[in-house]
Amino acid sequence: MAQIKTAGLSTVYPNGVRAVDALDLEIADGEFFALLGPSGCGKTTLLRTIAGLEQASEGTVTIGDKDMTATDPGRRKVAMVFQDYALFPHMTVAENIAYPLKVRRHPKPRQREVAERTAASLSLGGLLERRPGQLSGGQQQRVALARAVAVDADVLLLDEPLSNLDARLRLEARTFLKRLQKELGITTVFVTHDQAEALALADRIAVMESGRIRQLGTPREVFGRPADTFVANFIGSTPMNLLDGTVTDRGLAVAGAILPSPTDLPDNTMVTVGVRPEYLALEPGGQGITGTVSTVENLGVSSLVTLECPDGSLLGLTVREQHEPAIGSEVTAAPDPGRVLLYDKESGALLSS
Ligand code: ADP
Ligand code: MG
Repeated sequence: MAQIKTAGLSTVYPNGVRAVDALDLEIADGEFFALLGPSGCGKTTLLRTIAGLEQASEGTVTIGDKDMTATDPGRRKVAMVFQDYALFPHMTVAENIAYPLKVRRHPKPRQREVAERTAASLSLGGLLERRPGQLSGGQQQRVALARAVAVDADVLLLDEPLSNLDARLRLEARTFLKRLQKELGITTVFVTHDQAEALALADRIAVMESGRIRQLGTPREVFGRPADTFVANFIGSTPMNLLDGTVTDRGLAVAGAILPSPTDLPDNTMVTVGVRPEYLALEPGGQGITGTVSTVENLGVSSLVTLECPDGSLLGLTVREQHEPAIGSEVTAAPDPGRVLLYDKESGALLSS
């Protein structure tokens, strides 16, 4: 059993920056857990505090059922892959992978055997005698992973391991990583600023901002019902529409239109209306938001169409390729039932609907 727990965990740097702020987290044994958030929100600090590379200022870190808060990093049974891989350039792939065993003074044949076995499982079999400089970015990334998993660890901590790869390789590495994690069954904390990566890989995602967790949930929950407008803005490859709206006795007034009201909030309540471009569809003559097509962006199998509405607000919706309306034409877009979210105008928090 290697669940990870933090209770009231804060990490404050000597300069006073509170990079992790009173976090309570429970990561289950074998879970693939993503820490997602913009640069500077404290992801790396939290990972390093779990690993013991940073000292917790308050609170506790528990791994398995042991309180590790005061334990040396070397005794936490934690494997970590850093963003820059940190491979040794003068060592071969085999020596890099076996390095943790060398440090632990395992005999040479044992080092070689583990290097060969781990390399094979990460498709690095033919590359054992090369040096990191003679490998592609994707191969270097796999060597760093191999080195991390070469010794038995209870927990795998990955700090933006795919961010140095180009877009194509990143997709391949992502699939590879997901398979490897399931095969190893190892509790994994994966740090990323890339929402698509977190959605694709994780069993659960914690969306972080300023050292705190804004939302914790499955990819489907975080995508489908963002807990506040910060998360709504952050998640999704096309940004969620967030428009000013008012609850009226006729329905929800938004962008110069009246939609069926998804709420029983009192009349005249001002809200922020959230609806994803993917959950809007063109409805000729139907009830919806009418606007003039101002731009069409090709996304591959779909296009992002932006409407300019009578009150000046902009509304994005995606349509299937070859179903794009003409620029300058007037169209009506209706949201899928149940897909309109209302947020508190002041706090940005999701209002139950
Ligand atoms: P992320 O990984 O999400 O980009 P970090 O954990 O690296 O965020 O940083 C969180 C905050 O802590 C930032 O404001 C950053 O400037 C600050 N910080 C990070 N490392 C140090 C350090 N060694 N000393 C002081 N402040 C730091
Ligand atoms: Mg970081």
